[in-house]
Amino acid sequence: MTASVFLSERLLFTPATPDADAIPTIFAFPNEYSVGITSLGYQVVWATLAMRSDVQVSRLFTDTHEHLPRNPELVGFSMSWELDYVNILQLLEFLKIPIRASARSDKDPLIFGGGPVLTANPEPFADFFDVILLGDGENLLGNFIEAYQDVRYCERLPQLRRLAQVPGVYVPSLYQVEYESGFIKSIEPIDGEIPSLVEKQTYRGNVLSASTVVTPQAAWENIYMVEVVRSCPEMCRFCLASYLTLPFRTASLEDSLIPAIERGLTVTDRIGLLGASVTQHPEFDTLLDYIIQPKYDGVRLSIASVRTNTVTVKLAKILAQRDTRSLTIAVESGSPRLRQFINKKLNNDEIIQAAVNALAGGLSNLKLYGMVGIPSEEPADLEQTVAMMREIKKAAPGLRLTMGCSTFVPKAHTPFQWFGVNPQAEKRLKWLQKQLSSQGIEFRPESYNWSVIQALLSRGDRRLSHLLELTRHYGDSQGSYRRAFKELRGTLPDLDFYVHTNWSTDLVLPWSHLQGPIPQATLQKHLASATG
Ligand code: SF4
Repeated sequence: MTASVFLSERLLFTPATPDADAIPTIFAFPNEYSVGITSLGYQVVWATLAMRSDVQVSRLFTDTHEHLPRNPELVGFSMSWELDYVNILQLLEFLKIPIRASARSDKDPLIFGGGPVLTANPEPFADFFDVILLGDGENLLGNFIEAYQDVRYCERLPQLRRLAQVPGVYVPSLYQVEYESGFIKSIEPIDGEIPSLVEKQTYRGNVLSASTVVTPQAAWENIYMVEVVRSCPEMCRFCLASYLTLPFRTASLEDSLIPAIERGLTVTDRIGLLGASVTQHPEFDTLLDYIIQPKYDGVRLSIASVRTNTVTVKLAKILAQRDTRSLTIAVESGSPRLRQFINKKLNNDEIIQAAVNALAGGLSNLKLYGMVGIPSEEPADLEQTVAMMREIKKAAPGLRLTMGCSTFVPKAHTPFQWFGVNPQAEKRLKWLQKQLSSQGIEFRPESYNWSVIQALLSRGDRRLSHLLELTRHYGDSQGSYRRAFKELRGTLPDLDFYVHTNWSTDLVLPWSHLQGPIPQATLQKHLASATG
């Protein structure tokens, strides 16, 4: 892809003219341009940097880049998918920067990273970064740049020590991990001047993010994205999208959403409403009424996530009129007992009603999102899922039903972080496939092997960095990871420990020095209320 791709962009902000001594910075998305430019987080951080006159920022993707500075001082990565670490290492090599932080010298730039993957558990990737920004970027990014300005001309170690004082800035090399009998014994700062806990930052304003650029080259062509809510108040016990980003915050209709949508509609007719739980915005109905005004007749509307019991006929009608034919709802399971176990406050009648409403509103497809291998799941729970799908089919004849299904993967900072992946999950996916296909319901399982690798990375510690360096040369299959584990035998626990073992709540977690929104002791209580 050539750099001309940038010519199709329509910017919704005014970049600053960089000062003569602006910090030469590269801000990368470790994937292709079409993917990176569809990430609202990446867009917003890039625009924030570009609007500062003390920073001169250039963008880098795996298939294209802007003009890059010869000697960058800062190189940042926005990480949204775990497996993109392969591309981070490749881009570092492309920039001729050592991939391990410990091998970098004063002449190398500082490598910083942020985004959902690194905020949840940065440890498997910690050795590749000098600095990791934990949490919401709104204030954190500016604080980081300003602290860097203070120490810009210092040597690397004093720079890092100063940056570590900024709340939310994590400098992995300033923390020492000790192991005992294969387990983590302690994670401590190297001395008393470095904070012992790094706290994830939470932005508390009521103006949330919106696209800073619209382009036909994005994966969602010409989409203008508006963040309606941040986090989700439901707190399903496995859910990273809720637990990692609490508290639930909503964008103000007058100060955030309506001005953002009006701005977006000057350059495109496609709006995407984003957030873990969009329909839970307290003024969602008013927002819909605003969008369905006759003057916006041609506007195409997509909604990222709809809570099942908020699927009304009105919502379905609006979506159907606005170029959306299908709706996705996350039900997790057809078993009321399991839903209670995960704290999903939803009953089967509400799920069936959502399907009836979707059909009545004119939608033609409904996708239900489920999960197998939920802790405590028994085969009888799966039978209930099949029975529920049968009932939905009967209640909403003509509605095309699809079931997407993943495997439960433990995530850091959630009450289910201590549970392993159920090795029966693969068989259970196949069983569901057989049962549902025979009823004419399309079943789309997510790869079980991919879930295993996701679990490895989501509960991994620093010892995995050597493994990740090896696997990237072996290809991204589960076999590659097993091969690398074999090669490194004796230096780290086996794959089963990271992925399948139910961890004791007494273990020192790889992220125990990183403070999420909910303290570990409270997460244990939330776990106990499921199992108790
Ligand atoms: S409702 Fe959805 S987004 Fe909210 S906590 Fe549950 S799974 Fe997460």
